[in-house]
Amino acid sequence: MDRTEQLAALLTAPGAVESPLAALCGEVIADQKRLHNRLERISRISDGYQGELMRTNRELAAANERLAKALDDVRTLSGFIPICSRCKRVRDDGGFWDDVETYIGRHSDAVLGHSVCPDCQDPAHGHAAPLLPARTDHDEADAEGAHLAEVLAHAEWNGHPLQADYQRLSMGFQKLARRLNKISRISDGFQTQLKHLNAALARASLTDPLTNLPNRRAMIERLELATDAARTGPGFAVAMIDIDHFKRINDSFGHAVGDAVLRMLATILTQARGEDDFAARWGGEEFLLLLPGCDVAGARAHCEALRARIESERIEHHDKRIGITVSIGVAVHEPVLSFEDTIRDADRALYAAKSYGRNTVVCAEDL
Ligand code: GH3
Ligand code: MG
Ligand code: MG
Repeated sequence: MDRTEQLAALLTAPGAVESPLAALCGEVIADQKRLHNRLERISRISDGYQGELMRTNRELAAANERLAKALDDVRTLSGFIPICSRCKRVRDDGGFWDDVETYIGRHSDAVLGHSVCPDCQDPAHGHAAPLLPARTDHDEADAEGAHLAEVLAHAEWNGHPLQADYQRLSMGFQKLARRLNKISRISDGFQTQLKHLNAALARASLTDPLTNLPNRRAMIERLELATDAARTGPGFAVAMIDIDHFKRINDSFGHAVGDAVLRMLATILTQARGEDDFAARWGGEEFLLLLPGCDVAGARAHCEALRARIESERIEHHDKRIGITVSIGVAVHEPVLSFEDTIRDADRALYAAKSYGRNTVVCAEDL
């Protein structure tokens, strides 16, 4: 018992002396007690604040970590997500899901399961079908927004010195997460664009830009296939078509009219070809026809009809109607030879057609 407590006990004991000082002492003691209680309360409050401060610091550290992670996500975002542009599902090609698993392993404690759901069981082989479930939207920004609203709504946090800092950090985090979403969407868009571009590039590499006909490369691909097929199945014939005195058209009417004539010829070749035939611009004013399943008689008849049709066509230029003729060299492919041999034969026949006076069809077999 300290002195104050002893004094308090004496002053309140039965029969204690009554005096103004004793009363004053009593008052002081009571005040002291109140002060003591207030002190106790203030230290409790201070401890509370200290706890809150620590919690806020932890929150801040977590927000900072998420911020850094979001930044890292933006920085490490690379490659394309293999989403099918039709069904919007992610295909498991190029080890995509392995990368996702590594990513999840790096950023969280979650583990991807590897069992196969009943819907994906392939009854024939008992393993997963190649298509995997559609991806879900990345909504980290929304989750953080909701968390911030929750924190701000809490009365305890009102006016807290760190509230503004947390709010600023959280908003920054949301902004980054949204940027991440946007970049993912842009990346998806790029992936689709790239696919379209690749398809267009593949088409362009096999198409002649002036006439829109398949080019020499496309024809060679077809000839390779036809040569393989001819070893065991039906053969084919080729027809080399060359415009007669084409240089004169260019010289008389200009290069643009020459181009128009080439386009007109391409249109005729496209319209006149049979269902399985393949027509290509071989180069300059030379075109090549691949006629599958054709023997000499069939190829000759087809080319003769084509020659006559080309001769009858006219192209308008100012007040003039320009006509052209073509010479055609035909050769039927021998299965023991290469397609290059067959084209050489067709070339020889074409050369003969030119020497016979042009506007004619010659078959290699006639020579
Ligand atoms: P021949 O009857 O002997 O075949 O005579 P030709 O004049 O048709 O043959 P030549 O090989 O002497 O000339 C072919 C011309 O075709 C020369 C070239 O300028 C022209 N040419 C080649 N490619 C194009 C093109 O894309 N556009 C135009 N306008 N002319 C072309
Ligand atoms: Mg020529
Ligand atoms: Mg020519």
